[in-house]
Amino acid sequence: MQKTILITGGSRGIGAATAVLAAQKGYQVCINYLQNKEAALQVVDSINKQGGNAFAFQADVSQETDVLALFKAVDQFGPLTALVNNVGILETQMRVIDMSAERLQRVFTSNVISCFLCTREAIKRMSTRRGGMGGAIVNVSSIAARTGSPGEYVDYAASKGAMDAMTIGVSKEVADEGIRVNGVRPAFIYTDIHASGGEPGRVDRIKDSVPMKRGGQPEEVANAILWLLSDEASYSTGAFIDITGGR
Ligand code: NAP
Repeated sequence: MQKTILITGGSRGIGAATAVLAAQKGYQVCINYLQNKEAALQVVDSINKQGGNAFAFQADVSQETDVLALFKAVDQFGPLTALVNNVGILETQMRVIDMSAERLQRVFTSNVISCFLCTREAIKRMSTRRGGMGGAIVNVSSIAARTGSPGEYVDYAASKGAMDAMTIGVSKEVADEGIRVNGVRPAFIYTDIHASGGEPGRVDRIKDSVPMKRGGQPEEVANAILWLLSDEASYSTGAFIDITGGR
């Protein structure tokens, strides 16, 4: 049976690297994006040119109506076997004392509510209790859940802590329904996300404090994600892989 994967936020960075690797591993790939259609179509093109099968769908996964439309589109593509909750945002570095309620709302809606909504829709389709064929979910958290990101973005770190608690809880809820739910916790990966925090060169500033003395590449996170989704990880659920160069 053809495997079908949905990757939220697949137009660039870790999501795009995961999409390309998933296609190489035989998945049909649906990538979701928010604004950058051109980047999303480039990922789709590169997969299709290599003989894969991919499509892109615009949806704001923090909004329930968009999530429902996204999953309906994936249903046309094939039965969903894998979901990567990859969408995550952060905002300008600041201390908690300066954070507005609007910012907190945006960060928690984009990072946590989106993850709940997409996971809910995936479970409806994958659960063997509901006639599905099972599947696997990977949540892209962050090592910030452990460090708290003081002085930078405690809100972002807390949202990733919420994702981790959700990963553990949901993994136990659906463990006997053929669904595994795991997480990866990257840090210091060269992507555009650091520019959103107001510091595009953040990885290079920090890399000397990383035991491996370098930043990570999106492909190094994608490898862990694809392993957790694969049958090689068949007895792993509610587990996390830290991808941080040892920090
Ligand atoms: P990125 O380069 O900023 O890419 C973010 C992706 O998410 C883009 O494809 C963007 O789409 C999409 N997106 C954002 N909000 C969305 C929404 N509401 N609905 C749909 N799509 C949305 O990010 P990244 O660095 O690859 O990060 C991916 C994940 O890894 C995030 O969860 C992040 O927190 C986590 N992470 C990253 C690092 C790191 O060092 N890079 C470290 C730890 C954890 P558009 O391009 O269309 O806007």
